[in-house]
Amino acid sequence: MVADPQHFGYGAGHYNTHPPKAAIFPRRTKMAKQVEINQGDCLGCETCVELCPDVFGFNEDLGKAEVLKAEGGDEKAVEEAVASCPAGCIIFE
Ligand code: SF4
Repeated sequence: MVADPQHFGYGAGHYNTHPPKAAIFPRRTKMAKQVEINQGDCLGCETCVELCPDVFGFNEDLGKAEVLKAEGGDEKAVEEAVASCPAGCIIFE
């Protein structure tokens, strides 16, 4: 006797036994942007601190900028700081 494929759930109409794709790969919820500085590359010019003092501070001991508010503040000001950083070491994503 030949095994009935339908009996095992592989016959016509039984291929789609997987859960919906959305259940396997749930849509990534929009994450809030975060500010980071790659301090190793920071030149300590303080441009970011001048442009966006709410978010960036200057660590006198290290001679480098640091993030005071990782969730950012005025998004335009943070983006201006990113664009103005001569070392390109500010990440905002
Ligand atoms: S603008 Fe860039 S290089 Fe200048 S202090 Fe800020 S992070 Fe450092």
